Formats: sequence, C-alpha cells, structure tokens
Amino acid sequence: MVRFISVLFLVALSLSAFPQETFVRTLKLMGSRYEISVVATNQEEGDRFIDQAVAEISRIEKSISSWDPDSQTSKINRNAGIAPVKVDPELFQLIERAVQISKITDGAFDISYAAMDRIWTFDGSLQTMPEEETIRQSVAKVGYENMVLDKAEQTVFLKLPGMKIGFGAIGKGYSADRAKALLKDKGVVAGMINASGDLNCWGEKPDGTPWMVGITNPLNKNKVFAWFPIQNDAVVTSGDYEKFVVLNGKRYAHIIDPRTGYPSSGLASVSMFAPSAELADALATSVFVMGIEAGINLIDQLAGIECIVVDDKGKVYYSKNIKRNEQKMEIAGR
Ligand code: ADP
Ligand code: MG
Repeated sequence: MVRFISVLFLVALSLSAFPQETFVRTLKLMGSRYEISVVATNQEEGDRFIDQAVAEISRIEKSISSWDPDSQTSKINRNAGIAPVKVDPELFQLIERAVQISKITDGAFDISYAAMDRIWTFDGSLQTMPEEETIRQSVAKVGYENMVLDKAEQTVFLKLPGMKIGFGAIGKGYSADRAKALLKDKGVVAGMINASGDLNCWGEKPDGTPWMVGITNPLNKNKVFAWFPIQNDAVVTSGDYEKFVVLNGKRYAHIIDPRTGYPSSGLASVSMFAPSAELADALATSVFVMGIEAGINLIDQLAGIECIVVDDKGKVYYSKNIKRNEQKMEIAGR
C-alpha cells in the first residue's frame, strides 16, 4: 500500500514538474492546409516534434505526388502501357490497399480515376459540360483491374496507355496516419494531425479532456453542426463545398464516379469515423460515389467504422451504430 501511494506520489510529482501544453502549427503541405498539434513540455520540444511530423509528411508527398515529375507515382504514370515500374515497399503497399478498397466498393473508389483529371477541372476553368465522347474515351482508361501489381518484383504496371493514378482521395489520410505513428514512436503523449479536415489523433488534451472534432455544416461551411470527442481515432470529411463545378444549373463534386466518368452529385458531405485516416479518407470518397443507400449499407458491414452523410437538401443520414445523441444539428438549405 505504501509502495502504491509512493508510486502515485511520484506520478503526481512528475506531472506537476513537467507541465504539458498543446503546441500547434498550421502550414501548407501536399497543396492543403495542415494543422499539427502536439502535447509537449515546452515550445522547443513542441517545435522539434512538429518539425519531425512535417518532414514525414513531406517525405510521403515526394513519393505520391502526381505533380512532381520526379516522384515514383509520376514514373508509374509515364510508363502506362509501356513498362512496369519498381517502387518502394511503402508505395507498393499503399497501392495494394487502395486496390483492396476498390474491390470492396465495387470500383467506386479507384486511384486510376486520375485519367479523368484533365477533363474535369475544379479550379474554375471548366465552363461547359465536356463532350460525351471525350468522357467516354477517358473513362475507358479508368479501372483498377488494369493495374498490375507484382509482389515479387515490387512493380506496378498500368496496362493501358493513357492510364494514370492519383492519391487525392487517400494520400492526406495516409500522411496523417504516418505522422501520428512517427510522433507516438518518439514518445509524444498526445496530438492531432489535421490534414484539411482529414484527421487522426491520440492521447488527450493536457487538461485530461478528449480532443473534439467539429463536423462542418456542408451547406454553410462556416458553421459546425456537430462536435465529437475523439480518442485515438480518425475522422475524415469529404465535401462538395471546397471544390465543385456548376454546369447547366447542377452542382458536381470533385469526386468522379470511375464507372461513368461523371462527377458525383446529390451529396453535400460524408464524414467517416475509422481507426485509420487512410481508410476513413478512402471510404468517405467511396460513399460519395456510391450514394446514401449503397454507401451506408457498406459502412454498416464494416466493424469499427461509422459515417454521417448529408445530402444536398440538408437531410442527414447515419450509419447504424453512431451515437446519435451527440448530434444536435440544424441544417438550412443552400
Ligand atoms: P478532399 O480532397 O476534399 O479531402 P476526397 O478525399 O474525397 O476529398 O478526395 C477527392 C479527390 O480524390 C479528388 O480531388 C480527386 O483527386 C480524387 N478522386 C476523385 N474521384 C475519385 C474516386 N472515385 N476514387 C479515388 N479518388 C478519386
Ligand atoms: Mg477521401
């Protein structure tokens, strides 16, 4: 008993001797706004940890960026229809997992969607509906079935000339997972990596309360419609409110249905709760493409994964096991 008390005393002493604080840095990485929070004893230590997270995310960006001609991903794309490309085990495994997600979503998620990314641009340059024939030709290049992964050789081959892969729907989540894993390894007790709304956290805030995550009201992006306490988990939101295009009066999200070649419409946002941000990221995009019924049906079959879907009229849908009492939301029309 005495020993127990003295241990308690020591723990209390060490906590008070090293007060913990949250240090936060916001910066642009992978073309997106990242917010990195770590709990540390002082600014110097906090900065050091954040620098390590930034280095890790930049390292990942170098391998998965389709804009950087020197990335392994660009090399795979350049060699589409020509030759298999040997890649690092890390990239190989990421691609393998992406293909797994294509399989469980019946192709709604497909990193080879990227053959369409010259046709559908979401930077304001697209004024008229692309020609049907153009879409038809490009969508013919989309299809994970035509990605050949050779495990023994660690090579990736895109069979058709003009095929292309892109990590827009999974890369940010993956980077958040990796940065979290690295910081946990370094002994950081708590923190949060928020990659533009794709986030993963661990531990608790210094005051002992859980990290809180706000889900943006997709119909009014300055408002949060629900707050959730998050413990060692990831939350990712895919919305149509950041990047979209309006053609003939209809709003299209920057998420393409790989089977039709047309952007998905009808949903305003999908928020996904999962043990990893990579999976949450990919599944949020998938549900966007699959739609409410098929999407939620899939999520209900996956253990430990939940989602909230908001349609473009503001109606909210939940997966089976989500704790509904946590939400008090009101969503006004767009
Ligand atoms: P956000 O970038 O807002 O977090 P997502 O995670 O849903 O949203 O990713 C959307 C991005 O994913 C698109 O900008 C595009 O790069 C890519 N993408 C679009 N459609 C698909 C798809 N069906 N499967 C895989 N990636 C996609
Ligand atoms: Mg995604």
